[in-house]
Amino acid sequence: MAETKIPRATAKRLPIYYRYLNILLDADKKRVSSTELSEAVKVDSATIRRDFSYFGALGKRGYGYDVETLLAFFKKILNQDTLTNVALIGVGNLGHALLNFNFHKNSNVRISAAFDVNEAIANTVQSGVPVYPMMELKKQLIEQQIEIAILTVPTTVVQKITDELVDANVKGIMNFTPLRISVPETVRVQNVDLTNELQTLIYFIEHYGQQLGDN
Ligand code: ATP
Repeated sequence: MAETKIPRATAKRLPIYYRYLNILLDADKKRVSSTELSEAVKVDSATIRRDFSYFGALGKRGYGYDVETLLAFFKKILNQDTLTNVALIGVGNLGHALLNFNFHKNSNVRISAAFDVNEAIANTVQSGVPVYPMMELKKQLIEQQIEIAILTVPTTVVQKITDELVDANVKGIMNFTPLRISVPETVRVQNVDLTNELQTLIYFIEHYGQQLGDN
């Protein structure tokens, strides 16, 4: 499929659409209107139509969208037709929680290798995932063709490990630490700072007391 340049905001909504379309498919629904979709996923229908238009006209007036066609389409775009293996670095509290969290249930992503400097946990299997010592990082990532990594290590070591990941040809990093990491342009970073998210929520509740549209 040709590369389609889509806005980041649209890209972030694709998994939401994808998940809901799967629910429709399971319920044997053949088609869905943008209004129906809009109510279910809480995105206004004009936005939905605009999002979908980036991929060509997929809906028919008066008919809506064909669930199976749309699903097949998103599956390809989201790489859900192939299993993506992901590495996790740092099997502490958060790392453990993510290993336990079954990504595979709702998506075609799974953590297939974990790494930790702690000798007590390296060379063990945690929640069905092998944990390797850090000195095996590059070797395992290359051998297992893993290009995505989740960082749940202390902030003091996060940049050093990032550099090692870049050296091992990783293309995407999900950074759970509050520190902003430096990477070359070829590597994408998604920051997930849970404390910050919670503080933002509290700030909005305290200052506005209600939801201000979607994000
Ligand atoms: P969390 O922050 O996830 O709640 P925690 O409080 O249990 O975790 P941290 O000190 O944040 O522990 O460390 C998270 C994990 O990262 C630990 O399992 C620790 O052994 C591991 N870790 C620390 N330094 C490194 C390193 N240089 N390389 C790999 N793993 C590391």
